[in-house]
Amino acid sequence: MAQKVRATVRPLLVRPGARYTCFGDGLCCTDIHGLGPLTKRELTQIRRIDREGGEYNDDFEDYMLRTAADGGCIFQMPDQRCSVHANHGAEAKPEGCMRFPLGLVATPEGGRITTEHRCPCRTLGDRPELTAEAALPSLLDPAGRPSADDRVKKVKLSAKHKVSFARYREIEDGLLDELAKGADPAEVLEAKPFPKLHKTKWVREALELIDSRDGTAFGAALGWFGDTILKLVDGREPRPPGRPWAAAFDRAEARPGEPRTSREVFNDWIADELWSLGWNDERTLEMARVELATRLAIAQDICERLERLGLRADRSAAEAVTIVELVGESDFWKEIVERM
Ligand code: SF4
Repeated sequence: MAQKVRATVRPLLVRPGARYTCFGDGLCCTDIHGLGPLTKRELTQIRRIDREGGEYNDDFEDYMLRTAADGGCIFQMPDQRCSVHANHGAEAKPEGCMRFPLGLVATPEGGRITTEHRCPCRTLGDRPELTAEAALPSLLDPAGRPSADDRVKKVKLSAKHKVSFARYREIEDGLLDELAKGADPAEVLEAKPFPKLHKTKWVREALELIDSRDGTAFGAALGWFGDTILKLVDGREPRPPGRPWAAAFDRAEARPGEPRTSREVFNDWIADELWSLGWNDERTLEMARVELATRLAIAQDICERLERLGLRADRSAAEAVTIVELVGESDFWKEIVERM
């Protein structure tokens, strides 16, 4: 009888080369993304600290932390630190705050610790190697056990080809190895960006992204993303739509650390996109490569434009990755990807 495959969180696995610690650059506590959702228990806890601290948000259709006029969380102090953490301890923060930018995916080989890259503490300056010990406290559930965001047992390479996790790992090892050696990430992905869309056009989708700006930092990311699609598929020359995240990257750039090349920043990001397996629920590896190649092309163009504005190469790449990761996580992008 075939043995049942189980996805497990033990042992905890870190991708070789992943580097991160929280320096408090503060970007994660702003309206680059939704600050939540809060569970009922978290909402009660937050309201004990500040009665207006959490509220129902119609856009997210859930309870979220309230933002201040500058788009930052109402609990963010002028020095960017979290007042909930400072005054009530790390455990008083909602789980989403404790966890970001870390995540955990259960696989047949153990729990893969993942990292988001819309975080200058993850992408810029000297950062210590990520270790399971350092990450573990952020990954525990209220009962003190590591809790997985996702579980993966098998991987679909293409529409008709599903393979064991061990077979996928062989393929992934080759890709991660090339990225670590500094190969061109577009060549590693071996996929053509901007495939033909089903029943829509890239220009129409780009204009909708631009129209969806809402005054938040996330809205600005939509503007950059949409503008860049128009440039790449239609030859238009956009004007930069503003960078409300710049102060967090200023702080990150001021930290000690040798500047990296933009390719190092991009390869690190693509490696984590593969490692996180976030695509596996809805996509095949083949589709994931096309989707990633498209966002990579957008990120590389944004990076070049930021470098022309005078920003350092690694910072330009880190800001570009923030933009394409933010939009990549959104329903706007998921709907476009469904049409690829
Ligand atoms: S509660 Fe604290 S950690 Fe969470 S978003 Fe607000 S300031 Fe940031």
